Amino acid sequence: MGNKKTKEEGTNRRKFIKLGLISSITAVAGPSLFSNLTAQEENPVSENKNNDFVEKMRLLTPDGKIVEVDATNINKYPEAHITPKESRKGIPNRKFVMVIDLAKCKNARNCVEECQKAHQLDYNEEFMKIQLMQDNEEASPYWFPKPCFHCDEPPCVTVCPTGATFKRDDNIVLVDADRCIGCKFCVTSCPYSARIFNWGNKDKFDNTTIPYSPETSIPATEGTIMKCDFCPDLLRQGLLPHCAKSCPMGVIYFGDKNEDIVTNGEETIRFSKLIKERGGYRHLEHLGTKPNVYYLPAVNRQFPLERGFDVDEDIIKRYKNVDYVKELKEQGKI
Ligand code: SF4
Ligand code: SF4
Ligand code: SF4
Repeated sequence: MGNKKTKEEGTNRRKFIKLGLISSITAVAGPSLFSNLTAQEENPVSENKNNDFVEKMRLLTPDGKIVEVDATNINKYPEAHITPKESRKGIPNRKFVMVIDLAKCKNARNCVEECQKAHQLDYNEEFMKIQLMQDNEEASPYWFPKPCFHCDEPPCVTVCPTGATFKRDDNIVLVDADRCIGCKFCVTSCPYSARIFNWGNKDKFDNTTIPYSPETSIPATEGTIMKCDFCPDLLRQGLLPHCAKSCPMGVIYFGDKNEDIVTNGEETIRFSKLIKERGGYRHLEHLGTKPNVYYLPAVNRQFPLERGFDVDEDIIKRYKNVDYVKELKEQGKI
């Protein structure tokens, strides 16, 4: 970018670098590098041979080394509007994947709320749902964030009669509301209840100037289907999805299977290592849908379950008939 900045400014801005994703990288950085910087934070600057102060980016190489390159050598995908037709192609050479660490989730619900804001959803419309799970009577309950799993064998795509639901090469499953006839075949075929019907009531948003894109899922159309889209508009800009970025506990890792790297914005780690060493699994694996969302088991939980009821009264009401929650209430713990 070649921004002229003073040396002092540059030093001040070197304070903090958050991790993130970037899409493609030119020859200087090497084609197989995967960035660990977010474009939302100020990047460090340094002086080049022309005495200009240029923005730097830190990248993680496939062999785990951090290298620093000029931001001008990084090709980000354009922030241009992606039409429904273009949205079918996917982002080249990527296989996006999410990993959710159940040991760290305390139902803070930032992921739900930030996703709702970005996708103009109402309070009771959730692309990310936080469920209270208990695997058997003896086991302790835990919080279970559940987006769309962007399955490799997605029954929702198979049953859609109009091609409105489609699977891309970068692993993402999207809905094109322009083609959706609201038949709800996909809703009944999804074993994870990831889809929501749009009943309307979106009048509060002034969307007259926003062009529709399946990559943003807005403006939504009444009478069609909506679901988690993995935020491809952010991925094109080298940013993490809203849910991953907003989680104060670092529960949600997001990344690229091709590069074998995921990040929660603070920690960047090999995807394969994380899954292997922490016993990563996919929800209802036996169904054969091959989700691209993995879970790390809720062992050695970092927060007691009660902490997850602090958010608001409505959460307690939702689970009022669950025995364990009744007990917590009787004991005055929630
Ligand atoms: S989780 Fe459901 S909606 Fe998402 S891709 Fe899989 S089957 Fe389709
Ligand atoms: S509701 Fe829309 S996306 Fe779902 S199966 Fe019918 S046409 Fe396809
Ligand atoms: S990936 Fe995006 S759409 Fe999906 S739950 Fe997270 S914020 Fe919502």
